Amino acid sequence: MKVAPKTVVTLEYKITLTTGELVDSSEVSGPFSYVHGIGAIIPGLEKGIEGMDVGEEKEIEIPAAEAYGERNEDLVTSVSKSQFPADTELAPGMEFYTYNEKGEAIPFVIREINGDTVVIDFNHPLAGKDLIAWVKIVDVREASPEEIAHGHVH
Ligand SMILES: [Zn+2]
Repeated sequence: MKVAPKTVVTLEYKITLTTGELVDSSEVSGPFSYVHGIGAIIPGLEKGIEGMDVGEEKEIEIPAAEAYGERNEDLVTSVSKSQFPADTELAPGMEFYTYNEKGEAIPFVIREINGDTVVIDFNHPLAGKDLIAWVKIVDVREASPEEIAHGHVH
């Protein structure tokens, strides 16, 4: 069976930056299963995997726009140091979470600290980065109606 919309795909993968730096790999996280064709994975990867058969492997170049998107400088903002826990030693590169009104965790990273002002960045850490994905299709099966409705694998 080939990868098509509304199938459950299990794959082994390795994703790197164009510099070769490892982003993620099934050797670390284990084989990955998802419902194909519903936007559960980044668009460039979903497009590249479409039509592949079980056992097939492939390297897919994914431009940033089809991965985690281009960087958006509007997502870089400044807040007061007093917004952070007083006992925390702040440093550029540190990651924190804030919560939106739905209670969802929104990650951000500290870019720089100027006196009492902290510059924070809500861009995805991989925004603006082109990726190279190696994938091998391990299994493809029909998704159940519940899996399609829920958008995840049961
Ligand atoms: Zn479910």
